[in-house]
Amino acid sequence: MNMNMNSWIIIIDERRAGGMLDAAQKLGGEVVAAVVGPRALADTIAGLGFDRVLCFETAEGVPAEAYAAQVAEAAEAAAPRLVLASDAPVGRMLIGAVAAKLNAALIGAVRALAADGERIVVSRSTAEGKVLEDVEVQSALAVIYDGEDMEVSSTQPTPVELIPVVDPGLTLRLIETIEAGEDSAGLLTAARVVGVGLGIGSKDNLKLIEELAEAMHAETACTLPVCDDMRWFTSHSVVGSSHNQIAPDLYIALGISGQPQHMSGIRDAKVVVAVNNDPEARIFKNCDYGILGDLNKIVPALARAFKTIG
Ligand SMILES: Cc1cc2nc3c(=O)[nH]c(=O)nc-3n(C[C@H](O)[C@H](O)[C@H](O)COP(=O)(O)OP(=O)(O)OC[C@H]3O[C@@H](n4cnc5c(N)ncnc54)[C@H](O)[C@@H]3O)c2cc1C
Repeated sequence: MNMNMNSWIIIIDERRAGGMLDAAQKLGGEVVAAVVGPRALADTIAGLGFDRVLCFETAEGVPAEAYAAQVAEAAEAAAPRLVLASDAPVGRMLIGAVAAKLNAALIGAVRALAADGERIVVSRSTAEGKVLEDVEVQSALAVIYDGEDMEVSSTQPTPVELIPVVDPGLTLRLIETIEAGEDSAGLLTAARVVGVGLGIGSKDNLKLIEELAEAMHAETACTLPVCDDMRWFTSHSVVGSSHNQIAPDLYIALGISGQPQHMSGIRDAKVVVAVNNDPEARIFKNCDYGILGDLNKIVPALARAFKTIG
């Protein structure tokens, strides 16, 4: 068996595109972006440094999933050794269709890839992120990439190749978009976020958090039990493996123990500050700065300091 190391990266938005490109380039083969979405997205991806950029341009009002069969057929003809997609729901659906067509092994929660001769060694996280394990793959491989993102760019944009697609007809049509009340958009793009855990103690204490968030010009977020058990926030504010993944410049975790399900949602935060009154709290092993003490005293002091510096 003599397998190529060429990769296809299925792209439905910009999320982790740089990280996936970097991971695939390390294997040494040609790296192709298969963009399933608007032409403007393909033009953006063309600036990242892929060897080729294919664009499966979606028609207005037709979801990317409607093109799954066509993308899978094109992938089968190209026969890449490796296919990657981010863990966005549409990406996961498309890579499933492609993997089935390529008869490829499909692995999720992948953090890194390495070539070892003809084999690919896949490092993936399991047990809610507590364990990393290496899996060796000899066949064609499809991975849902959950590793580091990376800022990449090339001086010379890659020409975009428009792949002729057939209108999927009435297979899938977007008929209505309804705002689901409060949304998470502000949280997803915020530069500063204050995260609230059960250590806040009572609903009355939330006004301390609001004062701090206002002084910091920050969005607020919470852990799952603060939403599900206490009902002090809606699910739009929950950060973690089952909810929002955020990447602020600064995340201040207040009364949060630091369980992996929460921490995986702030993996891309640049600086994490934890306030906790338990010196053994797990979050102290996973933060850049730890403040040991009662948040009832520390939060007002932080708010005063942020008001001073603006
Ligand atoms: C399948 C599954 C999916 C999950 N998904 C998510 C998810 O997406 N997001 C998420 O957040 N969780 C998720 N969870 C729950 C997760 O496992 C934890 O239970 C949760 O994150 C803990 O929340 P917490 O840190 O607020 O509470 P706790 O673990 O109870 O921690 C409270 C912390 O506050 C500290 N504290 C108490 N009083 C004070 C004080 N006065 N001053 C300072 N510190 C104080 C304590 O020392 C403690 O460390 C999931 C669980 C499962 C099983």
